[in-house]
Amino acid sequence: MITIDGSRGEGGGQILRTSIALSLVTGKPCRIVDIRAGRRKPGLMRQHSAAVSAAAQIGQARVEGNSLGSRELTFFPAAVRAGTYRFDVGTAGSCTLVLQTVLPALLRAGAPSEVVLEGGTHNPFAPPFDFLERAFLPLLARMGAKVEAALERPGFYPAGGGRFTVRVEPVPQLSRIELLERGTIRRRRAKALVSRLPANIGRREIKTVQEQLSWEPAVLQVEEVKSSPGPGNVLLVEVESENVTEVFSGFGERGVSAETVAEQTVSEVLEYLQEDVPVGRHLADQLLMPMVLAGGGVFRTLPPTRHTRTNVEVIESFLDMKISMRPIGGKRWEIAASS
Ligand code: ATP
Repeated sequence: MITIDGSRGEGGGQILRTSIALSLVTGKPCRIVDIRAGRRKPGLMRQHSAAVSAAAQIGQARVEGNSLGSRELTFFPAAVRAGTYRFDVGTAGSCTLVLQTVLPALLRAGAPSEVVLEGGTHNPFAPPFDFLERAFLPLLARMGAKVEAALERPGFYPAGGGRFTVRVEPVPQLSRIELLERGTIRRRRAKALVSRLPANIGRREIKTVQEQLSWEPAVLQVEEVKSSPGPGNVLLVEVESENVTEVFSGFGERGVSAETVAEQTVSEVLEYLQEDVPVGRHLADQLLMPMVLAGGGVFRTLPPTRHTRTNVEVIESFLDMKISMRPIGGKRWEIAASS
C-alpha cells in the first residue's frame, strides 16, 4: 500500500488525481491522507469525487472514503476495463480533470474506449477543452496514442452543463518524447468565447490582445456560444509552432475587467514567446505522466510550478523512475525522466 500525503506541495487536488491515475496504471493500491489540506475548503469536492468514481469504474476498484469533504481515501484497483463510459461531474466542476485521472489507464487498456464527460469544460484552474484538444492530445498523438476529443457544448462555472466525447485507441507502449525546441511559429490566433453575456466582453478582450500582441485582425475572433446552459467567458490564445502548440487562457470574472483578464493572459503568452521554450507551465505538469508512461523523455519549459514538483514526487512514489529538473539559463528549465 502506497501512502501519499495530500498536504504536500500546494496541497491541492492534483496529488489525488495523479495518485489515482498511477494506482490504476500500476495496479498498486494507495491511500491518500490529508486530502487538499492546503485549500480553503479541504477534503474532496464534487470534481475530485467524480474523478475517483470514474477511476473506480474503469479499474473495477474498491474505494473507501470517497464522499464529499472526505480527507482520506483508499483505492484498491483491479483490472482496467475498456468500454463506453459516461462521467458526469454533476456540478460545474471540471470534467477535463476527470479525464486527466482516467486517460493514462485507458491508453493502456486492451481495447478502445469511448467516454462522454459532462460538467465544466472551461474552468479556471483546469485545462480548458481547447488546451486538451490543441496542446495536450497532439503531443500524445506524437507519442503514438490516438485520442480524439469532440466538444459538444461548453460548460462554465457556475452552471456547468458542458459535454465532450473522447475516443481512446490504446497503445501498448507510448514512444519517448523529446521536446527541446518549439521551432518556427506557424500560426497564432485568439478567440474569446462568450456565453449568455454581452458580446462586448469578448470584443474588449480581443481588442486588448490586438493592442498588446499586434496580431493581425484575421486571427482574432469573438464567438458567441448559444449551446451552453449558463453564462461564461473565456479568452483562448493559441501559439502553434513546428513542434508544439500552446494554448493560454483567461476567464471572465465578475468584478474583473475584460481588459485585465486579457492582460493577464497576454503576459503569459509574452513570457512564453520571450523565453523560447516549447512547453508552458501547465503543459509541463501534464506532460510528466505520458513521459513516464513512455519510460522516459525530456522537454524544456518555464520554471517548474508547485504542481509540477508535486507531480514529480507522486510519480516517483509509484514508479521506478527518476525525474530531474534543472535550470538551463534565463527562465528556461529542462525536465527529464529516465528509468
Ligand atoms: P483544487 O485543490 O482547488 O481542486 P486542483 O489541484 O484540483 O485544485 P489545480 O491545482 O488548480 O487543481 O490544477 C489542476 C490542473 O489543471 C493542473 O494539471 C494544471 O496544469 C491544470 N491547469 C490549470 N490551469 C490551466 C490552464 N489555464 N491551462 C491548462 N491547464 C491548466
